[in-house]
Formats: sequence, structure tokens, C-alpha cells
Amino acid sequence: MSRKSDKAEQATRLVLAGRRSEWTGAVVNPPVWRASTHLYEDSADLARGRANADGEFYYGRRGAPTQWALAEALTELEPGAAGTVLYPSGVAAIAGAFLSVLRAGDVLLITDNAYHPSRAMADGLLKRFGVETRYFDPLDPEGFPALFCNRTRAVLFETPGSQTMEICDIPALAAIARERGAASLIDNTWASALGFPALERGCDMSIMALTKHVGGHSDLMMGSVSATQDHYRKLRLTSQSLGQIVSPDDAALALRGLRTLGLRLEKESASALKIAQWLSARPEIAHVLCPMLPGAPGHDLWKRDFTGGCGLFSIIFKGRDEAARARFMDALRLFGIGYSWGGFESLVIPVDPAGLRSVTSWPPPGWDGNDRLGIRLSIGLEDPDDLIRDLEGGLQAMEQGR
Ligand SMILES: *Cc1c(COP(=O)(O)O)cnc(C)c1O
Repeated sequence: MSRKSDKAEQATRLVLAGRRSEWTGAVVNPPVWRASTHLYEDSADLARGRANADGEFYYGRRGAPTQWALAEALTELEPGAAGTVLYPSGVAAIAGAFLSVLRAGDVLLITDNAYHPSRAMADGLLKRFGVETRYFDPLDPEGFPALFCNRTRAVLFETPGSQTMEICDIPALAAIARERGAASLIDNTWASALGFPALERGCDMSIMALTKHVGGHSDLMMGSVSATQDHYRKLRLTSQSLGQIVSPDDAALALRGLRTLGLRLEKESASALKIAQWLSARPEIAHVLCPMLPGAPGHDLWKRDFTGGCGLFSIIFKGRDEAARARFMDALRLFGIGYSWGGFESLVIPVDPAGLRSVTSWPPPGWDGNDRLGIRLSIGLEDPDDLIRDLEGGLQAMEQGR
């Protein structure tokens, strides 16, 4: 028998993952177990329950089958993961990962293009608790080893970077971190485990905002961290200390989203690529920041390391001002203006990276300094030609006001 492709294996695993018969009973999906108290048979059973292995009843704060099924499904989808912890949001997941590895006096390295709330958490909360953060240029692997000192405990990667979509060389950078005894954490929300098997590529913890693709329907906030054996136990204990729990209703919604994740990512990636190609030929656009697009920044590394993409990318306008960008966004009819992404519907937000960096410059070296403002598009499940027509209308409105 020939070896099945990774994609075929993923498709089948997405259907089967987390569906233990003792959790689902006679139905297909695990029911929504609303539970604080878990009742025991007798005092001997209570004593056994205290052992609290994963997937066993204890008390509501440790979850019930609905949450366990989701966590187990995510673990099965992340090659190399020993377990997954769920959090009430993506930001809570990032906090949970940080707090499980860092202590006062440690140094944390964060990629300069990280999701802004990750930076804010490091510069605020973590600083108050005695953790020092240093930012690094994700596109400078030669300079990376020199950033480590004997207090460097962890690195936070994000690839592609938030808003600007740079792809960094995770296998090389995570190997450097490992040699120096630092844990590699990655915000893997963009690709998910389906598009970037982060632990196989050298990371220790893979963080996702399930709010985005996994939920997929813009009606859910949740986060997850899947970790290697070495890190899972500490991660779980830290989340328990913080009292983190997700509701069973939300876990059921996330599981529902997960079953179609592969299909949606494929469709949204194909549409995004078509739209990115169309945009890259437009005279109003200076840069299309979409790693899936041949010739775009990061495309070669994306092709080497990733097994999939998604519908999220950015464009930078050629020398247009904020008023022009507002005309563009306001003329769109199919793209909602709003935060988040990865839902079934298309979204747009402005991109202004200039104020959000510490050690890299925006615009990047080599660009025309006037090409600085852009937008980020989250491509949904609409017909891509309809979306292109909508974007064409936006560009016309932008130019009419000049
Ligand atoms: C949205 C997002 C998060 C945070 O997720 P929330 O559920 O909104 O807290 C983290 N990382 C990235 C890359 C995101 O886009």
C-alpha cells in the first residue's frame, strides 16, 4: 500500500479526532456536559478520582468530556504533542504558555512582528513580574545567536508575522534556541497545525487562537497550547493554578468548527491566492504580503516548511494617505470592517506597523518610504470573483478622491 499523503491523513484525522466512544456515547459528537460537581459512586471512588489523570472526572474546573474531546482532537492533529490545554481566548493561551516557562529574572525573546497584545503582555504584565523582554528581527538568523544570554528562558515566534506576514526560518531559529536551553513558543494561529506542524519543526509549544480558523464562524473566543512531553505537565499545572477553563458550549462549537477546518482552509487559501495575484498586478498596490504568492516575500521558506496556508494576507498601497485608505475600505460591500479573521466571511482592517516595532524599521529597507500604509484582508468563503469585483470598486473609490 502506498503511503497516504499528509493531507489525506489530516482529512481523516480531522473527522475521527477526539471522538472516544466513552465520551460520545451513542451519538456522533460528545454532548455538552454542563458540570461543576462530578458525583462519585462512593468514598473509595472519590479517593480514586483525586488522582485526576487527564480525561477523568474530578471537578468542573478540570473540564468534562466536551472539553477533553476538543483538547484531545487538537493533540492528535499536532504531530509531536503530548497534550493540549484550552484557554478562554488566544491571548489567555499566550499568557498560559509564557507563565508556564518564565520566572522572575528570566529573559524572553519576542519576534519584532508579533501580535501586538503579545508584546503588550511582555512589556506590561511580565515586566512587573521581573521578566525582561528583548525583541529580535525574525529575518536575521545570523544575528539571532548573539541575542541569547544565560538568563534567556524562552523565545516567542510568530510566522507569518502579524500584519506584515514575514516568514522566518523556524527550523534554524528553534534549533539555536534549543542549543541554548530556551523553550521555543510559536503563535501558530495563521497556519494551524494543518499548515505548519510546529513541534516537528523544532518548537516546544504551539499556540493557537481558536477564535480564528478553528471556530471559523465568528461566534467564539478560545485559545489552545499544544506542547511536547517536556512542557505539557507544567503548562497544565499553570493553567490549573490560574483557574482557566472553557465552557462546554464553546468547546462543542470549536469541535464543530474543527471538523471542516481543512476544507475551509483549502478554499480560503485558494481564493486568497487568486485575489493576491489580481492585486499584485494593480498599479495602486506597491506590495502584496502573502507568503503563498510566488515571488512574494517569504514564499520560498513557506514552500519549504509549510503544508498549507489560509485566507489572511496584507497589501501596502503605493504612496496613498489615510484618507485614500478610508475611501477604499468604506467602499467595500462584501468585506466587513472589524478585528479577528478566519471566519466564513471576509474582513478588512487597516495595517500600520510603523509604531509597533522595536528593532526593525517600517517601511523595510529597500522600499520607497512613501509606501507605508496598507490593509489586511481575511478572505472568507464567498466567491473570489465577487470579492475581486468588490476590491476593484474599493480601488476606484480610493482613486476618485485623489
Ligand atoms: C487574534 C489573535 C490572537 C488572540 O486571540 P484572541 O482569541 O482574540 O485572544 C493571538 N494571535 C494572533 C496571531 C491572532 O491573530
